[in-house]
Amino acid sequence: MSECRICFGTTGDEEEDEENVNNSRELIAPCLCNGTSRYVHRACLERWRETSHRAFTHCFECNFKYIVEYAFPLETYIFTQPAVLTRDFGRYLFGLLLFLLESFFFRYLDKLLGYPTLFYMEEWGYNTSQQLEILENDEIYSSSYYFSITVLFTSVISFLCFIYGVLVNVKRKKIYWEHMISKLLFYFICSIHFIWLHVIFGNTVYSFELFILTDSSCGIFNVFMFYKFLEEHNKIIIFINTQKNPSRLLEPPPDVVV
Ligand SMILES: [Zn+2]
Ligand SMILES: [Zn+2]
Repeated sequence: MSECRICFGTTGDEEEDEENVNNSRELIAPCLCNGTSRYVHRACLERWRETSHRAFTHCFECNFKYIVEYAFPLETYIFTQPAVLTRDFGRYLFGLLLFLLESFFFRYLDKLLGYPTLFYMEEWGYNTSQQLEILENDEIYSSSYYFSITVLFTSVISFLCFIYGVLVNVKRKKIYWEHMISKLLFYFICSIHFIWLHVIFGNTVYSFELFILTDSSCGIFNVFMFYKFLEEHNKIIIFINTQKNPSRLLEPPPDVVV
């Protein structure tokens, strides 16, 4: 008579409880173990699998990787840790270099085109001649200003790439966006502080300088904000895979070899 290798009980000989309803006292042979270790209660094994990451995927005795059937396809669109945290300084420095080049590029382009980034302020009726003087003559404010523009541009592009990536790679979009849309809006609005700080500070020369200082200081935190945002995304993907995707252990077909 077959018995469970964890609790040594057999099938159906236990007191009737809730678990019986979903067949958890069913004896299964989920791996290649043989003899007295061959069978295990589905419920006993599920409890055991919770105890470690290795136990969750593999049998400790025969090392067989459990065959798991999921109700929905697993989500795989997960971001790895950023370069600065994984001590991948090569990648980190490369990112920094790209950022600096981008900043020089915007500065050069803005000057070349006659400062189009100030045009919209004129449109709103502000006198931009003093702002222009600051950008042309003050190295610190000028660098900070183009740092801010680079941060804004990079942030918007990053979010657009992110949304594109989600649209292409996330399989269950409805449940994903239900949990993610408010986070996306929150982080996106925080990231485009250039726009709303401009509205608050941008209308006098004194405020223009204050705006530059405030916005470039905020800009330093954008990259951390985006990493935080990607972490939120990862959490939701893991939540969907573990909490919103019922799984069931299958028994290996008889012809499986070790
Ligand atoms: Zn058992
Ligand atoms: Zn086994």
